Amino acid sequence: MNNSIEMHLVTHYRSLLFTQDYCGQSTFGFECNDGWANLIEATLRLTQQHAELKALDVKVTQAKEKFGQLRIYHRGGDESIGAAFEIAESVSGSVCEMCGMPGGAICIDGWLQARCGHHSGPHQIARDENLKSDENYIASYVEAVNLILSFFGEGAVLWVQQERTAFAGRRPCGMLATEEGCQTIFTFLNRLEHGVGV
Ligand SMILES: [Zn+2]
Repeated sequence: MNNSIEMHLVTHYRSLLFTQDYCGQSTFGFECNDGWANLIEATLRLTQQHAELKALDVKVTQAKEKFGQLRIYHRGGDESIGAAFEIAESVSGSVCEMCGMPGGAICIDGWLQARCGHHSGPHQIARDENLKSDENYIASYVEAVNLILSFFGEGAVLWVQQERTAFAGRRPCGMLATEEGCQTIFTFLNRLEHGVGV
C-alpha cells in the first residue's frame, strides 16, 4: 500500500490495529493495493463505532488480498464485527484493487484478482498515486452496512451475497462498491424498516 494512505489509516484507527513498534514508529502492513483503501477505512470506521458502543477490545491482526478478495483477520470482535468483515470481503471482489473503481474478478497469471476494465489488461498499469479517501463513499457505506447488520442480524452476510429481485437481480455486495449503490440499499431498507412502500 502507498505509504501516505497507510499512515492515514494507522493514524485514525490506531486503537483497532495490532501494530508493531519498529524503530520507534508503529507500523501496520496492509497487504493489498490502494484501490481498497476506502473500503478498508469504511470497515474500520464501522468497527470502531461498534466496538465503542459494545465496549469491545477489537484488534485487526492482518488485512490482505487473497484470491482476489480482501481478508481481514481479527480478534476480540463479536458477530456483527465478524459479519462486517465478511461483507467487506464480498464487496472487495467488485472493487478494483488498483484504483477503487467498480470491477470484478479476473484471472491474471492464474490468480484471481479484482480489477476494473482499465486495470484488467495483461500489462500492469502504474498504480494511481493520487488516490484520496472518499468521505462521501465511506459515510454511505457505513450507513448502509450498519442498517444491513441491524436489519438482518445473522443473515446479513448471506443477504448481501445473493441476487435480489428488489434491485433488479443485482447482488447488494456489488452495489456496496459505489456510493450510489450504498444509498439505494440504505433507502430501500429504511423504507422497509418503517413499513413504507413495501
Ligand atoms: Zn482500476
